[in-house]
Amino acid sequence: MKNSNMKFAVIVTIVAVALLAIIVVISSNKSQEQSVTEKTEVDLTGQPALGEKDAPVTVVEFGDFKCPSCKAWGETIYPQLVEDYLIPGDIKFSYVNVLFHGEESTVGAMAAESVFKQAPDSYWDFHKAIYDAQPEVNHDDVWLSKEKMLELAQEFPSINQDQLKQDIEEELTKPQVDIDEKLYTEHNVTQTPTIKINGSTIEDPFNYEAIKEMIDQELEAKKNE
Ligand code: CA
Repeated sequence: MKNSNMKFAVIVTIVAVALLAIIVVISSNKSQEQSVTEKTEVDLTGQPALGEKDAPVTVVEFGDFKCPSCKAWGETIYPQLVEDYLIPGDIKFSYVNVLFHGEESTVGAMAAESVFKQAPDSYWDFHKAIYDAQPEVNHDDVWLSKEKMLELAQEFPSINQDQLKQDIEEELTKPQVDIDEKLYTEHNVTQTPTIKINGSTIEDPFNYEAIKEMIDQELEAKKNE
């Protein structure tokens, strides 16, 4: 009797240890997965990019032409980035369309993709022209329309107006917009602008010091590679 009690105790201990080992393995796998999702490079194939092609650090903005914070970011933070890092060749900058404001976001994104496709050298100026056209007040009112895009494009001799009209009306550049939508969904973008630096998301995109710190860290890490 005593012997079988002993056996039982040994078996219970073995089972408990085995269970513990399994739990440890599962939880360590979990934390590995989490650290991978925290830093994931964005596939920027076919996306507009500014700056040196082989710059050591990549900054991506996930933005929406209809979003007031994106306009504010473009006017306050972005120019500092250009001056401090883009012109010296430390970063390249890309923009991915986000469609959080429905039909208007989609029209703006399709127009921008059309310009990028047919007149890539005019892309960033057209991009800025859309944000400049965003009203300072009542930005929830409808303003981002096909007509507005065609009006803005008239300032650009490089843009084929008929092509732009057709791209929007027949949604010919929608496939490029769909690629962007898939990208921001994959990267769990829930607010605009979302700024990623070499795959890591900046918690507060308006904290330029935090952005600088992360870029400097990445530059340092690349130097030591
Ligand atoms: Ca795109």
